[in-house]
Amino acid sequence: MKGLCILGATGSIGVSTLDVAARHAHLYNIVALTANNNIDLLYEQCLEHHPEYVVVVDESKALLFKEKLKDSPISDINVLSGVLSLEYVATLDNVDSVMAAIVGAAGLLPTLAAAKAGKTILLANKEALVMSGDIFMQAVAESGAHLLPIDSEHNAIFQCMPAGYKSGTHTKQARRILLTASGGPFREMPLDQMANVTPDQAVAHPNWDMGRKISVDSATMMNKGLEMIEACILFAMKPDQIQVVIHPQSVIHSMVDYVDGTVLAQMGNPDMRVPIAYSMAWPDRFDSGVEPLNIFDVRRMDFQEPNLERFPCLRLAYEAINKAGIMPTVLNAANEIAVDAFLNEQVRFTDIPVIIERCMEKFDVKPANSLDIILEADQQARMVSKQIISELNH
Ligand code: NAD
Ligand code: MG
Repeated sequence: MKGLCILGATGSIGVSTLDVAARHAHLYNIVALTANNNIDLLYEQCLEHHPEYVVVVDESKALLFKEKLKDSPISDINVLSGVLSLEYVATLDNVDSVMAAIVGAAGLLPTLAAAKAGKTILLANKEALVMSGDIFMQAVAESGAHLLPIDSEHNAIFQCMPAGYKSGTHTKQARRILLTASGGPFREMPLDQMANVTPDQAVAHPNWDMGRKISVDSATMMNKGLEMIEACILFAMKPDQIQVVIHPQSVIHSMVDYVDGTVLAQMGNPDMRVPIAYSMAWPDRFDSGVEPLNIFDVRRMDFQEPNLERFPCLRLAYEAINKAGIMPTVLNAANEIAVDAFLNEQVRFTDIPVIIERCMEKFDVKPANSLDIILEADQQARMVSKQIISELNH
């Protein structure tokens, strides 16, 4: 049996991971589940999966959770709290695989700790990789960890790579990556209406059911920008080798274009249990619970080049990766603050790229060659972005 730790068990990816694990319960021992504060869902998950450990990051919620466990059939579960406990459970000896499914920069330290400890990393938390790029890949290479992408596009690309492909290595026969994007809910909205979209409209994605932050990122296409950077890091490619392709049907999840003219695509229904099951079973395959793709229902597939005027966040992501160093960290931090402000109705949808661009202008490019430099750039960019938001609102 494989020992599994799920960082971010109560989120959209966490829930799908437990769904897949439950279909193959004889193969998985759920060692640890973590949550930020959703203790009601965590309790249900504990009743079903009975982990050895849980981490509730929020201390007061952790106390409430301990109360809840008393006199329950699962009172033997060890309840920890605080951010350091995330690193502790991600590196336990009996953990083989870590699903990194915390949203945002908060997932960086535990995911990096798991990489250093040589665990098999199932990486959903793209923000952690965008921030730490080379350092993360170095930790993976040094420890001999396996790194399997969960993001559907990167999972598709991984599947289209030559047999035995290892994340972080360059495949010279692969000329380009075609990174597909649905274009989100505002792909065709008149540009002058974009300023007035509400958080509820932005999180209503046409094809995928996801957490709120990534749903807004999909609407601005910052998600594709982060994914373009993620692809450069995971597949050792240059930014100009990654072509973003709008494909509204979300049937093809990305493609690899080889030097001989072959283009390999991975297809499937848009359900995250497909890439999750692939990575959990790797190098084998097993049932994910997802309906087979009915190719006759697909009928047609469309492909368009993205419009950078409509989606300035994508342009900013190319700018950040071309400048390199700390700039992807700054981009990510500014985006997290801007999206949070939009979800709390403090700024408009169209302010998101404005905040990010102004924030990036305030930073000089510095090499991101230590974790301290990365964490400091992240903190500073958060402060600068909050300042920009308060100026916007005057
Ligand atoms: P979500 O908001 O549904 O869940 C986030 C999880 O992280 C929750 O379990 C929450 O408790 C935990 N969390 C949040 N803040 C935390 C903090 N400060 N400290 C510790 N834990 C915290 O998000 P999601 O949609 O499941 O996405 C998770 C990650 O996977 C993101 O990085 C996202 O980009 C990536 N991803 C998601 C999808 C998807 O379909 N949902 C697809 C591809 C990639
Ligand atoms: Mg994706």
